[in-house]
Amino acid sequence: MNDMAKTLYIVIGCDTDPDRRDFIDNISGKKLSWRGMTEGIPETKSAVSDITDSMAKNPVFTWLIRADEQIKCIYGDYGWVLNEYKQFLNELENSGDEIGWHPHFYKHNDKHGIWYQELKDISWQCLMLESAYKSFNEIFPGKPRSVRMGWIYHNNETMKKLDELGVRIDFSAIPGLRTNLRKNIKFPHNIYDWFSAGSEMYHPSDADYRRTARKGERALSILEAPNFTSHSCFWGMAFGLQMARKMKDPVQIIQAVRKPTFWVNLTTVPRLFAPLLRSLGKELRKTKKTDFFFMTYFHADELIENNSAIYNKENLKQNLVNISEICMKLNIPFTFIKAGEVPLLDNKHAILRK
Ligand SMILES: [Zn+2]
Repeated sequence: MNDMAKTLYIVIGCDTDPDRRDFIDNISGKKLSWRGMTEGIPETKSAVSDITDSMAKNPVFTWLIRADEQIKCIYGDYGWVLNEYKQFLNELENSGDEIGWHPHFYKHNDKHGIWYQELKDISWQCLMLESAYKSFNEIFPGKPRSVRMGWIYHNNETMKKLDELGVRIDFSAIPGLRTNLRKNIKFPHNIYDWFSAGSEMYHPSDADYRRTARKGERALSILEAPNFTSHSCFWGMAFGLQMARKMKDPVQIIQAVRKPTFWVNLTTVPRLFAPLLRSLGKELRKTKKTDFFFMTYFHADELIENNSAIYNKENLKQNLVNISEICMKLNIPFTFIKAGEVPLLDNKHAILRK
């Protein structure tokens, strides 16, 4: 069967965080280490240079750069990464990639000398976003247009703030996943809630960032484009068990029963990325939509030599090859695009639908 009317758009985001100390060996000094970015990115770009989409174009990436309180505390300036690596980032842009934003709500507890996720002070979150955005925008005028939040965390106010600042797309959502803030955790990390979100792209409601606007609510202009997940019961349960271990929270298992969700990074070993690809193949076959979006991401330090047996840049390459093979088998053209192009395509089709 010829399915030429359909197209798969592949959006590859990278949370360009500093190297994690428990993940990368030999990080010295108190400052942050950025080898994942400075070494991992060029190596990966050259590693995938023999992969092309149906338009004969190489993979493009959306590099989401840190500009937030932690960067300001350590380097004295929200825009330090953007300034320090400006030429490097400009070169990435010139090669066809996009420079977006990855703000974390890290706050420092001086007494315990520990960084934690600020969850309670929402006005601080919004003010920080505003100031960091301003810095970003001064260094890269007109940007950022695309965002992935640190720890994929959002609340109604932070989503509204990104909208108000002019961000066009957020692709933090991993629908079906939620981590829970438990009372005994003093310095939380990695807390987020996308449990009720669906897998379709949407303009969030001002009353709930996880869904579209209902009657009487306002729809934000920003587009939320959820990451691609699999709803396989087996893999969803396996993932729930793994999350329960990681978060030391048995509630993860109950959530997985209620909403089986499987998701992994693009840098994950292909045999564990395969469940996502099986779901992608199924959905591509069955969808009536002409445009199908595959949103995916990874972290910069997964591109360099690390302590895990699961993440590396060769996996990223093989997973992209495997996606392209699925499309070729189904005779569906596929194309790599930047996150910032998604709202443009979405608008174009919204106009055509009218
Ligand atoms: Zn991050």
